[in-house]
Amino acid sequence: MTFKKPEKGFVEKYNRPYIIAGPCGAETEEQLIDTARQLASTGLVDLFRAGIWKPRTRPGTFEGIGPIGLEWMKTVKEETGLPLTVEVANREHVEHALKHDIDVLWIGAKTTVNPFSIQELADSLRGTGVKVMIKNPINPSLSLWLGAIERFEAVGVEILAAIHRGFTEYGDKIYRHNPMWQIPIDLMMERPNLPIINDPSHICGNRTLLKDVAQKSLDLNFDGIMIEVHREPDSALSDAMQQIKPKVFESIIKSLVIRHEKGLDNSVEKDLISYRRKIDSLDSDIFKLIADRIDIIKLIGDYKKKNKVSVLQRDRWEELVNQSIIISKQLGLNSNFVQKILKIIHQESINIQEKILND
Ligand code: PEP
Ligand code: MN
Repeated sequence: MTFKKPEKGFVEKYNRPYIIAGPCGAETEEQLIDTARQLASTGLVDLFRAGIWKPRTRPGTFEGIGPIGLEWMKTVKEETGLPLTVEVANREHVEHALKHDIDVLWIGAKTTVNPFSIQELADSLRGTGVKVMIKNPINPSLSLWLGAIERFEAVGVEILAAIHRGFTEYGDKIYRHNPMWQIPIDLMMERPNLPIINDPSHICGNRTLLKDVAQKSLDLNFDGIMIEVHREPDSALSDAMQQIKPKVFESIIKSLVIRHEKGLDNSVEKDLISYRRKIDSLDSDIFKLIADRIDIIKLIGDYKKKNKVSVLQRDRWEELVNQSIIISKQLGLNSNFVQKILKIIHQESINIQEKILND
C-alpha cells in the first residue's frame, strides 16, 4: 500500500501505518527500558513515546518523573535504536528535551487548547530543527487545532503529524474522550498533506475498545497509530486502565486490516468509480425529488396563508410517521432511519411555510 501523502511527511518511506508506542509515563529506569526492549523486539514500532511531565487533571496524582527520565530515554535509544518522542508543554521542557536529543516533541491536548502556551513553544522551537506532533485540543474546536498548526508553521517548525485523541465531554459515555471523527476528517480536508495519527488509548480510556478504534482510524485513512504500552499496565502510575502489555500490542497491531485509499489494481479502481457514478446520479435524483416536494410545500403555504390555517397540524405529522413505517417495511429500510430523514424534510417544509405565512 502507498500512503495518501507520499510527497510529504515522515510516513513517506513506510508502506504501512506509522506506529508510535510506549508507556503513558516514564516511571522507573527498569520499567522504561524493559518496555522499550519488548516493543523493539516486535519490530512494529517506529517511534518510542513516554511522558516525562504528565499534565494530570487533578493534583495529587503522578505528575511525571521529570528530567531524570530523559537520561533513561537516552539509554532506550542506545539499546534499541528507536527514535524518541516526549510531550512538552513549556519552554523549560523544550530545553531539557533538546539537551537529551529527543527526536520528536508532541504537544498535548491540554496545551493545544491555549494559544499563549502554543506561542511560547513555537518561539522556543524556532530554528532548532526539531519536529513536532500536535494533539487535538481537549474541546471540539477545529480552529484551535489549526491555530496551533499555524503558529508552528509561522516560525518554520516542521509538523510531522496531527494526533487525534478525542474530545472531552461531560457525563457517562462509552469513550473516555469522544472521537468525533468528523473533526479529524475536516482537518484532512483542510490539510491534505498533513499526516494524521490516531491515539486510540486516550480516546478509549480502556483496553477493550482499542482495536476497534484503531481499525476505524485506518478505515478512515489515518496515517498511523499512537498507543500506550506498559510492561505492567495494571500497576502503571497514570492511565493504567488503557495501557496494554507489549504482547497485546503486538497482537492488536498485527490484527489490523490495512485498507487502500485507492484500489490495488486498475479494475478494482474502475469498478469503484462506476459504482460511485451511479450513487452520484441517484443522489441527484433524490434532491430533484425533494425540490419537487418543496414546490408543492410552497403551494400549500400560499393556500394556508389565504385560508388562515396554522403551519403545523398535529394529525399531519402523525400521518407522516405512519407513512414512514409503511415505506420502511415496503423497501426493507430501517424505520428509524426513514423517520429521521422524514423529520428533516418535514422541518425544512415547516420553515419554508412559516416564512410564507409571515411574509
Ligand atoms: C499522553 O499522551 O499521555 C497525554 C497526556 O495525552 P493527551 O494530551 O492526549 O491527554
Ligand atoms: Mn496517557
